[in-house]
Amino acid sequence: MFHSARLKLTAWYLLIIMVVSLSFSTVIYRMFSIEVDRFARIQRLRIQRGITNGLTPFTDDNTIPPRAVFDDALISEEEQRFILFLASINIGVLVIAGGLGYFLAGRTLKPISDMVDEQHRFISDASHELRTPLTALKSTLEVNLRDPKLTIATAKTLMKDSISDVDKLQSLSDALLELAQYQTPTNVLQCTTLQLSAVVDRAVRNVAGLAKQKHIAIDHKTPATSIEANEHSLTDLLTILLDNAIKYSPAHSDISVSAKQSDGTVLIAVRDHGIGIPEKDLPHIFDRFYRADTARSKQTVDGYGLGLSIAKRIAELHAGSITATSEPKKGSTFTIKLPVKQSRQTLS
Ligand code: ADP
Repeated sequence: MFHSARLKLTAWYLLIIMVVSLSFSTVIYRMFSIEVDRFARIQRLRIQRGITNGLTPFTDDNTIPPRAVFDDALISEEEQRFILFLASINIGVLVIAGGLGYFLAGRTLKPISDMVDEQHRFISDASHELRTPLTALKSTLEVNLRDPKLTIATAKTLMKDSISDVDKLQSLSDALLELAQYQTPTNVLQCTTLQLSAVVDRAVRNVAGLAKQKHIAIDHKTPATSIEANEHSLTDLLTILLDNAIKYSPAHSDISVSAKQSDGTVLIAVRDHGIGIPEKDLPHIFDRFYRADTARSKQTVDGYGLGLSIAKRIAELHAGSITATSEPKKGSTFTIKLPVKQSRQTLS
């Protein structure tokens, strides 16, 4: 599809360039013909005048007749040579414009083709992630439905398990929708001036229940810094990092959130003392559906590997970035870097 679109665009480029080039050549040829006609007229007049005055033009010996001095065939030969010259220029333009047009068409279509590829990957990743748990759920239900000895008690347990599976699928589809929404290329966040401490407080409140279950304390002393950002998205970003910090930390550990401002940038760090991330996984944790291969985390902690992709996208939409450092079995620190002020286009 991309190739045929590239060829079509090249053809359009070529058509436009050739129309311009041919029109230009026609104008030049017209001007050339007018000049040649003028030259021929003047020459004829001069010869005529010479004959009238009894002079033979251009010759000393008076043997060459005036007709032979002025040669019409020479003029038309010159015209033909000029047409040939213009034609070869146009062929050259055709060849160069063809190659250049093909190259430019490729460059013009590249972002669109990348976006289409990305969407295809997203759809296939998402359907793969949804299909596996759906197939498992369906086969469990079918097997139990066919069981003639199924008791009410077993059926109730099965229903409870199914509801919890459906809940997980729902949270997966919510995360997918959120990611899709942030990945829309035209997505521009509406930003307002916010107190950073208020956003951190809200994110901490969002995960308070989870932290309480694991007896994890969250220390958050944020300086009085204001920042231009989208309130909902920035809260989401911090909630994702805090949620992970809790998920991947042992009970009774602690987490800290700190922030500092320098040179028009705010650095927010979320630090935990959890299981950490192996060095080989660190470069991939922000990839969609990637889950680090820590035996404990993959099997016991719920997740789909979408949280950090969403977090990264939110940081990017704020013209910022997010990085992670970690030491296995010691803990991880996620640092968000955001500009204090957003460029005009992202402001509400
Ligand atoms: P998930 O839903 O699996 O938590 P994320 O995208 O949020 O998905 O995280 C991707 C992976 O990065 C996780 O599966 C986990 O292996 C690793 N990870 C993220 N945050 C932490 C953390 N604070 N401590 C240890 N590992 C983490």
